[in-house]
Amino acid sequence: MTQVTAVSADIVLHNAFVVTMDGALTVLRDGAIAVVGDRIAAVGPSADVLGAFPGAAQTLNLAGRILLPGFVNTHVHTSQQLARGIADDVDLMTWLHGRIWPYESHMTEEDSYASTLLCGIELIRSGLIDKQRHMCSVWYGRPVLSFLNRYAQTSSNLMNSTVPMHLNIFVFVIQWQSQKDLYEKHHNTADGRIRIWFGLRQIMNATDRLLLETRDAAQELNTGIHMHIAEIPYENQLVMRMKKIDHGTVTYLEKIDFLRNNLLAAHSVWLNESEISHFSNAGVKVSHCPASAMRMLGFAPIREMLDSGVCVSLGTDGAPSNNRMSIGLLNKL
Ligand SMILES: [Zn+2]
Repeated sequence: MTQVTAVSADIVLHNAFVVTMDGALTVLRDGAIAVVGDRIAAVGPSADVLGAFPGAAQTLNLAGRILLPGFVNTHVHTSQQLARGIADDVDLMTWLHGRIWPYESHMTEEDSYASTLLCGIELIRSGLIDKQRHMCSVWYGRPVLSFLNRYAQTSSNLMNSTVPMHLNIFVFVIQWQSQKDLYEKHHNTADGRIRIWFGLRQIMNATDRLLLETRDAAQELNTGIHMHIAEIPYENQLVMRMKKIDHGTVTYLEKIDFLRNNLLAAHSVWLNESEISHFSNAGVKVSHCPASAMRMLGFAPIREMLDSGVCVSLGTDGAPSNNRMSIGLLNKL
């Protein structure tokens, strides 16, 4: 039995399948945990834990149910919770240009607040989610995240190359300043539960300057970057044509020295063998979202990434890409 202290417990949960996620990935068939305050004080066989905490305020027999550690959701768009169902059965470019960006660009502060609140409620209600990593397109959701009492790494999406060239620099300055303002205002707030990362939507609407200044600022501030990378074949084809390289986004990002170990790449479906090595060598992490992969992106080379040492996690993505905000259900896909 793993026991932290020998004080009396507030609650002992016993007779459960306890998935410990310890170094040996131990699963206890008749296991128990003792909780003291907001901490797990002991994990072990039911008989041992019950014996160590005979005076527990509450004892609950779980009758063979499963006890798991909390999940971390590494990719979700809290701003899209009100958009469930508006972009079914379309390809990604239609999904973005015809449905999601028009929806997001018309959101009010009130819409954003409601969307983030609903998203958080659904994530918590789906159970087993303890810490979440959010990607908000509109920042009004942040007070909600602290209200929901969860951990969150949040970022807003920067885009500057979808405007005419002569306006590009103005968009860059405005967006970049808003991102820095967000960092200064919200980073490490709510008792450290909210941390601000820099968000880049995707390479198709980011200039090299935006990419590289984001890289440098994130490094300087010791924070992370979240970005959709290599989502669809069209993205790779566009990058090959525009940048005159022999493969897609990851090849180009490696060429301009953008890849770092503080980068969390969303999806990353269309990588070849050498691009997987680039991720592995740089320590880039990947958020794999099975629901959106099955819906419109295709399936990422997860086995190959894991074999080459890339850290791969799970994300739900936003409501228009996934009908359920549940990490637990993703395990069944
Ligand atoms: Zn996404």
